[in-house]
Parts: sequence; structure tokens; C-alpha cells
Amino acid sequence: IASSLNDPGLFRQQAFVAGAWADAEDGRTIAVDDPATGESIGHVPACGVPETRAAIEAAERAQAEWKRRAPAERAAILMAWHDLIIENSADLARIMTIEQGKILSEAEGEVRYAASFFKWFAEEARRIDGAVLAPPARDRRVLVLKEPVGVSAAITPWNFPLAMITRKCAPALAAGCSMVLKPSELTPFSALAVAVLGERAGVPAGLFSVVTGLPEAIGAELTASPVVRKLSFTGSTRVGAILMRQSADTLKRLSLELGGNAPFLVFDDADCDLAVLGAMASKFRNAGQTCICANRVLVQAGIHDRFVDRLLDEVAALRVGSGLDPAATLGPLINDAAVAKVRAHVEDALAQGARYASAPLHVDGRFVSPVVLTGVTTDMLVAREETFGPVLPVFRFEKEEEAVRIANATPFGLASYFFTSSLHRAWRVGEALEFGMVGLNTGAISMESAPFGGVKQSGLGREGGHPGLDEFLEIKSFHMEGI
Ligand code: ADP
Repeated sequence: IASSLNDPGLFRQQAFVAGAWADAEDGRTIAVDDPATGESIGHVPACGVPETRAAIEAAERAQAEWKRRAPAERAAILMAWHDLIIENSADLARIMTIEQGKILSEAEGEVRYAASFFKWFAEEARRIDGAVLAPPARDRRVLVLKEPVGVSAAITPWNFPLAMITRKCAPALAAGCSMVLKPSELTPFSALAVAVLGERAGVPAGLFSVVTGLPEAIGAELTASPVVRKLSFTGSTRVGAILMRQSADTLKRLSLELGGNAPFLVFDDADCDLAVLGAMASKFRNAGQTCICANRVLVQAGIHDRFVDRLLDEVAALRVGSGLDPAATLGPLINDAAVAKVRAHVEDALAQGARYASAPLHVDGRFVSPVVLTGVTTDMLVAREETFGPVLPVFRFEKEEEAVRIANATPFGLASYFFTSSLHRAWRVGEALEFGMVGLNTGAISMESAPFGGVKQSGLGREGGHPGLDEFLEIKSFHMEGI
């Protein structure tokens, strides 16, 4: 990778622990591959307990100094980090496409999205305001102070190798916290590149560490440590529950952004073209590998056939290929397990009576063709689980209540979408959907200024927006008497 970058220094194959670039103490490494070719693109240290411990100790020291800095000073460093990400966006996008597979234009979009969190939280750093309460008695005053939680930890997934990191570390540092990050072992190079830029932006040594390596060992150490006061995790509900259990003994504060099973409802009175565009954007971004991808598309009987026809035209225009190929619109899936899951979901749906509306599934290595299924029912795997691939299952429904009931009949509650031109229905359905996020007449709901997160088994807490900063702040009541 390094030779194809404008700045080869952004490609690092060492962990960044306590302000220094380092190998694992025992010298072990993990190979990282390019999902498009299956070939190794480099190695990162297989860090475990000792490296994590060193990172936590450094984070504790660095945080003691960082929290005392003026907010404007913290903001200036975050803005410098933002600017460096933008300046190096071509290289960052290239690293991301090679290790993750997404098409280059999407990688460029993610780099801008990732940078936007530094800008937003740099601005927010200067508005961490407290309060002076109305005095309960003449000689008393009560103040409310906001203080950083302390040392924080983050564990991030492979599907957004950069944005899931900046969405956590930007508010952490803005609030005055330090952070130890464990990126996904599948996409560590984006995380290491952002650490290089953080160092250049003037982030103090030890304030932000990137510990690559063994998930269980690093996760166990981060959760067991009494020094780590907060864990922010994005990934599967299964691992989120493990980390929550492990965090119980130290009563850590938790932000968990977990799996979803997003419904996408199209009502008879919807703008059909808009709904098709929304479905395409929501379903096929990152080849269907996002936790807010439309997983169940429910279409009312009166618009069903028109919607499916228009959708098939758009799906037929998709081009599967390497993310570096400018003609490609759909990259490879992350690994063989992801491909196997897609295949299993499609086969299960067909066996239970669904039909291909598009061309049948075609698999070539990790490249998977986009598929539209009709006649889908709630018993099928495509309805019950997150497929995390380019499969668009269409259900037909008659009544609004029926669609809302099906949409809510899941243990998950992250994203949901619906399309209607009725103002009454917009309110009614928007309020009835049991999800942390609702998109009305849009398939795009991610932005740095709006809270992102789920209800039910999709997680705890919110990232982005004003609440994203609160996740890293404690509230202190300061009672004064004898005034
Ligand atoms: P996905 O299914 O999206 O890969 P995972 O929940 O498996 O989601 O992974 C998300 C992140 O959690 C990755 O960084 C992964 O290495 C990490 N992870 C997986 N298992 C554990 C664990 N037992 N403890 C800590 N982190 C883990």
C-alpha cells in the first residue's frame, strides 16, 4: 500500500501505544488482507494484555494534564486533526478501500464524514457549560459542573474503519478524556493512519493509543481495569453483551452501538422515485454492510409492482467490482463468512417460497451480485436477522397497522425508514416506530450533528450531536453554604 500513497508515512504496521510506535512484546503479528483479492496487504502487532496495560497507564497520566487545558486549546488540536484528515483524504480513502473493500467514492465520503466529527466536537468543546441553580436558601448556592469521565476505551468494527473511530475519540478528547482504541483486526490500517495524523496535530503522547491485536485479551483488560471509566463499543449485539457483562464489576459507563434490523416502509401515497432512490442508498451502501442498511423492505400493495419495477432498473445498473475500479458501484464483502451468510439467507428465503425478482445470486470469491427477492415473509432468515449484504427482500402489505406491527416485531431498534406524502401518516408512523432513528422520505440518516443510536437490543447511548459529548461527561453538583 505504502508505495501507492502520496505520503507513505500514513501506512503503519505497528501499534501506537503510549505515544510510541511499537511491536507486540512477544513479536507476534496478525495478517490483514484485501477483500477484493484475498491477498495479504500487511501485518499489525498481535497485542494483548501487557500492551493494553501500558496504554491505559499512559492514558491515565496524559488525561490528568489534558483535562486541565482550556477548552479552546483542546478544540484547536481537534481542528488541526480535522484539517490533516481532509488534506490527506486521498491517501486515507485508498487505505480504507484496500483493507475494507468499499468503493473509493464511498471511502472518500467516509473520510469527510470521519473528519466532520472532529470539527463538530471541536466546536462543542467550547460549550461544555454548567449551571447555577436557583438557591434553595438565602445562604446556599448550588452549581452544576460538567467534568470529563476520565480514561475511556473504544472498540470499533470493520465496516466504517475511520468514522466509527472519530465518532468516539473526537467527543472523548473534546470532553477532556483520554482514549485507548482497539480497532477491528480486519481494518487496522485506517486506525493507525488516523493516529499518525493525531500525533502530527499535536495530540499529547499517551492521550490516544491504538492497540491492535487479540480482541478477547484486549477487551478483557480494558473492561477489567478500574482506571478505564467508560467503554464505547460499536459491533455485534453478541459482543456488546459480553462487554457489558465484563464491565459490570467495575460499573463502567457504556455506549453500545449494536446490530439492527432496519425496516423500510413504502406506502401507497409515497413518491415512488424517491422511495426507490432511498432504498438503493440505504440498502447498497458499503455493499449492504452497515448496521442501518434497510434489511426488510415492506411495500404497500397499491405501489408494490411499480416500486419493484423501478427498483429492478436501478439494481440492474449496479456494477460489482474492486473498490479501486472507478466503474464499480458495489465492492466485495469483507470475508468468506459474510459471503456464506448472504448465501444462507437467500437459500433459506427461496426454500420458504420467496422468488428472485432480479437475476439470481452470483458469487465470485467475495464478490456478491445484488439480489432482489419478492414474496418474503416474516419467518425467513432475511427478515429475522441482519443479512449484511446486497440482498433486498420485499414484503407486500395491505394496512398501515400491519406494516408498523411487522416493523416493530424485532428485538432490535436502530434505524427505520418510511416513505409517504401524508402529513398525518408521517407523524403517526414516525411516532409508532420503536427505533432510535427514523428517516422520513430519505435513506440517509447519518450526520455528525444528529444523535445516532438505538433502542432495545441495538444498544445504549447516542453518538454524534450534543448527546455524543454527554457520553464522555460526568455531572457534579457543587453545593455551597454560608454564602
Ligand atoms: P462484526 O460482526 O461487525 O465483526 P464484532 O462484534 O464481532 O462485529 O466486532 C466488533 C469489534 O469487536 C471488533 O473490533 C472485534 O475485534 C471486537 N471483538 C470481537 N470479540 C470481542 C471480545 N470478545 N472482546 C472484545 N472485543 C471483541
